[in-house]
This record gives sequence, C-alpha cells and structure tokens, in this order.
Amino acid sequence: MKLRIIILAAMGCLSLLARGESPQVIAHRGYWQVEGSAQNSIRSLVTADSIGCYGSEFDVWMTADSVLVVNHDAEFRGVDIQNSPSDKVLALRLDNGESLPTLDALFEAAKSLNTRLICELKVHDSRSREKTAVSAILAKAHDYGLEDRMEYITFSPQAFSEFIRLAPKGTPVYYLNGDFMPAQIEYMHGAGIDYYIDILRKHPEWIADCHKRGLKLNAWTVDKPEDMKWCIDNGIDFITTNRPEILQNLIKAYQNE
Ligand code: MG
Repeated sequence: MKLRIIILAAMGCLSLLARGESPQVIAHRGYWQVEGSAQNSIRSLVTADSIGCYGSEFDVWMTADSVLVVNHDAEFRGVDIQNSPSDKVLALRLDNGESLPTLDALFEAAKSLNTRLICELKVHDSRSREKTAVSAILAKAHDYGLEDRMEYITFSPQAFSEFIRLAPKGTPVYYLNGDFMPAQIEYMHGAGIDYYIDILRKHPEWIADCHKRGLKLNAWTVDKPEDMKWCIDNGIDFITTNRPEILQNLIKAYQNE
C-alpha cells in the first residue's frame, strides 16, 4: 500500500484509498444480476440494499397520464412508456415476474431500507413534460420522507437545471451527458459529473479540476475489473456498476494491501 501511495503521489493523483477514503459503490439499475432479480425491479433495490451498496440507481419515466414509473427503456415489450396510458404500462411484467413498478411502489419499499436512491429522470420527447416530472418526483420524495436519501441524475440539461432549482438545498444533482466541463457544472451549482468512464479516461484532467472546485465524480458503467481499478487509482468518488459485489471485493482487497 505504501509503495502505491508513493507512486501515485509522484504521479500527482493520490487515489481516494490512499487518502484514507473508499470509492462508493452504486448498483446500476439496482442489483439485478442475481437469481430472482431484474433491472429496475423492487427486488433489485432490496438486493442492492442487502449487500450494503452506497446507492441503488433506477430510471424514471412519466406516462401519458402523468404517472411516474421505473424502467430503463423508452419502449418496453412494445409499449412506448411516455406516450402510453399508465394502465397499459403497469400491466407489463419484468423478467423476474414483478409488475413494472411505479415510483410510488419503489419509494414505499425504500422507506424501510438504507441505501441512497440514485434517481435518473430519462430524457422525454418534451421539455415541459420533463419539468412536470421533476416537480412530481421531488413532491413524492418529500411525501415519502426520503428527501435526505435522494440524489438526482439526468442526461437532460433542462432537467438538470430544474432539479438544481427545485430540490431541497444540498440535494446532490449530477449531470450524465458528458458534454459539460467541470467549470460549467460548478457554475450551474451541480454536485458533480456522472460520466461514461471512457469520457473520464479521455479527460483525466477533469478529475483534479472537479475536486479543486468541490465537485464529485461518478463513472458508469464500470463492470470490468481493470476499469474498476482505474477508477479507484484515479480518485473517482462514486462507481456505478452492474457488478457491485465484485467491486466491493476489489475495494476490500485494495484496503488490505
Ligand atoms: Mg440509468
């Protein structure tokens, strides 16, 4: 460990571990690569919580009749979620047999858990629908008493601004799309950048730039051990992965070196 610290210090990029901190593990779409789970299911949230993930990420759409639902794809089993009525969307089943969840159902389940809720609002066809969705999500987080555990992420610059404008002060809001530099994120009062790992590999100077500005970095979707190691060695604060247990074990191995 000492040799690693010396080498990294000489390179000017002390890792979080060398600074006595560990990167935080976020389960991408929940922890779903286990028996009985499925992406963006309630089970995947419960399972991510059960292994002690810092956070569990999930994706939110608003149906044509303004019901917030949890799913990744714009179209799921042939149903265009944002342009369909909720009764049609909520009749869909996930791969583990669960009904496609409402955000209400996910928040209800989350109340008895500890993991942080990394809520991604998907990019909708209409900017005004995104604004409506941001307000509705924030109201629900308030109603369920979950505001302190919420973090918001989005590819939409408009939704990013809107979350920052309306979320309770101090709520972390991260931008996903990879096209804003750290200075822009700071100017917009974002908490940091949550970018595809290859973008961070292309711009390693953004890591120090973010930290200098008090911004955090999250990388996705980090499933290969060599990518996990790169994130740990380069001081990425949060790592979003489909393989949270492998990442947790890797971090433990680093700590025991
Ligand atoms: Mg997502």
